[in-house]
Amino acid sequence: MPWRKLLPRPRWLPRAVLMHPARLVVWCFVVVILMMLVVGARDLFLLRERVLTSRQHDLTLRVLGVEAVLAAERYKLTFVRDYAQQQITIQESAAARPPDAAIEAAYAARNQPVWQLAVPNEDSSIIGVSPQLLSGLEGFERRDADLRADLYAARQLSHVLGLNQRNDATAGAVTFISSNGFYITFPPLAADKAPALLRRLNGMPYYRDLLPDRNPNHELRWSSVYTQFESTQQRTTVSVPIYVDNRFRGVVAVDLSLRQLRTLLGTPDDADATRYMLDRKGKLMAASTNETIRDLRWPDALGEKWKHLTLAELFSARSGVRQSGGEYLLFQTGDDGNWMLLDTLKSDDLNRAVLARMSQPLLVIWFLLPLLMLVTIRVVTLLFDHYMALGEKLQQLAEHDPLTNLANRRHFSDLFRRESARRHREGHPLATLMLDIDYFKRVNDRWGHASGDRVLQRLATAVKENLRAEDTPARLGGEEFAVLLPGATLAEATATAERLRAAIAAIAVEPAPDAPPQEGGDGRIHFTISIGVAEAGIDGSTTLDAMLATADRRLYAAKAAGRNRVCASDAPAGSVAAPTVQG
Ligand code: GH3
Ligand code: MG
Ligand code: MG
Repeated sequence: MPWRKLLPRPRWLPRAVLMHPARLVVWCFVVVILMMLVVGARDLFLLRERVLTSRQHDLTLRVLGVEAVLAAERYKLTFVRDYAQQQITIQESAAARPPDAAIEAAYAARNQPVWQLAVPNEDSSIIGVSPQLLSGLEGFERRDADLRADLYAARQLSHVLGLNQRNDATAGAVTFISSNGFYITFPPLAADKAPALLRRLNGMPYYRDLLPDRNPNHELRWSSVYTQFESTQQRTTVSVPIYVDNRFRGVVAVDLSLRQLRTLLGTPDDADATRYMLDRKGKLMAASTNETIRDLRWPDALGEKWKHLTLAELFSARSGVRQSGGEYLLFQTGDDGNWMLLDTLKSDDLNRAVLARMSQPLLVIWFLLPLLMLVTIRVVTLLFDHYMALGEKLQQLAEHDPLTNLANRRHFSDLFRRESARRHREGHPLATLMLDIDYFKRVNDRWGHASGDRVLQRLATAVKENLRAEDTPARLGGEEFAVLLPGATLAEATATAERLRAAIAAIAVEPAPDAPPQEGGDGRIHFTISIGVAEAGIDGSTTLDAMLATADRRLYAAKAAGRNRVCASDAPAGSVAAPTVQG
């Protein structure tokens, strides 16, 4: 590449890098873009983690809220159970209260299909059924010996529960179901429905699941979501069994308002996501949406993608995030480890949340970087090409003669030095020709200076045409020319000179338009040249100047011998005749 030598040569930077500035820009930008991609990917990953963590955090806070409500309900229930057990125990002991007319009346009516124990107006009524109606109902058994004590305790409970319920507007229904075949519910229900009601109570999970064979440890239990009898409302209930002297005496149950639980669960940011509250067996206790799937069991309701996860695994991990099929599952168990909150999050929603949190300026920079790269490449290429072309032009001007476009003396000297060094290195011969137009002054005089210039130009082309590619013709000044012939011996150079001389002698140059009219001839300029030949290292031609002097000497010998000829040797010492001249 001709402009290769125009490039600066910093030691620390390979030349090749400077030669392709556009490539350099692309590489630099690619590195920057890659670095930004890596940093961006890391940021995205961290943001995803952060979104998930904050969602998990939210879930943990909700668990705390639910826990507080559950703790209050549990406290209420255990209080009621303890109170009931205490009342029954007292009534069965020596400290029992004396006979009471209302209790005795209810006791007397105990075998009627439906009977009631009279209570003060503000308390909820105690309603019982006959032993016949109890037959076949699991967990119910009329034991007359226990009935009075149970009724005493029920009346106390009715009062206490009624007081509590009246003061708490948000509280759900409370029910005491005695295994002796009667019940109290808040808010109260009509007595005529008692037989049907008892049968249904008997079927309710909060009663059935507490029967001794199903709940040997007498634990407090949560029942999953169910639809309350005589209403379309869905509830979840917490209940606890009552035991006195290790004998099952009934159940106290408190409905938890689903509305209240739903408020605690909250609505996730994405509209179609649902939070679930599940018990240890995978049964649904509450959900954040109104359309609660009643018989939801883990993992059916959440879809195929979670089939591989067992509930036991989630409960033993207590909290965390799982991913499956483009969806995230976040879970957090309650403190007692008996229930958990689940939250699902679709990957797309997560990505949307991450994008929303991403720094907008950073995004803009990302998109602008390739654009900036294109602009930079364009500018750098433009500048590079411009200055390179300028450099080449300057170099051409500095090294060439403007009239003939041949190398000038300085460039010729540089090339000679290079070739001379090669000659020493590789041992090739190196020859030079010196050319001078014969009687050129006459050409100028006769045809004018402009025509003289045309002759010089035509001579230059003719010389170039008759040389090998590695030979360099140069205009040393005026109408004096030189030719550098690398690899040529004196004999080869002489042959080339002769070829040149003959070719030029055959040229006819069209004179310039301003040439004066001529008489005779073909109206074109004919001219000849004389050539002196020298080979480096021979006849004292060790330096450029010495060799040029030798060639020049021979050129003038050729002139002296009559012009239009080639001279390749000096006259022998003492010889008077002209030196060896061909022509
Ligand atoms: P000789 O055969 O002895 O060389 O005779 P000559 O007339 O050619 O003599 P010489 O070589 O001394 O002539 C040089 C002339 O070349 C002088 C000048 O008028 C002419 N010359 C030098 N440079 C230019 C140029 O650039 N253009 C033109 N038209 N003429 C030039
Ligand atoms: Mg001359
Ligand atoms: Mg001349």
